[in-house]
Amino acid sequence: MKIRRGVIELVMESSKDSLPNEFAAFLKAKKEVIYEIALVPGTISGERSAIMQLWNRPIDLGYVGTIHSHPSGVIYPSEDDKSLYSKFGNIHIIVGYPFNLYSWRPFNNEGIEINLEMIQ
Ligand SMILES: [Zn+2]
Repeated sequence: MKIRRGVIELVMESSKDSLPNEFAAFLKAKKEVIYEIALVPGTISGERSAIMQLWNRPIDLGYVGTIHSHPSGVIYPSEDDKSLYSKFGNIHIIVGYPFNLYSWRPFNNEGIEINLEMIQ
């Protein structure tokens, strides 16, 4: 599985715009390449974790996983993240402050870091 650089760039910009809140979206893939995010309908706001708010959203079978931001800069899944990951596919990316091309890590649905190549 690979991910387009443009997807990461878009999520980093959206994560900056969402500060101090988290940003979250679903990942869409075609032929083993994550090429797009599906934004969560409505506005995510308040204290509640963005990934927790994904839980109530309709599930599209084309989604392969999730991506969300950690404004704290800690690029590891929380216990809440791990408990929800298994319900939303196999690839879960966390992006962390300062939200650049290097401040992200991919995990599987057990919260274990995996390899995911970034392509143009
Ligand atoms: Zn999280």
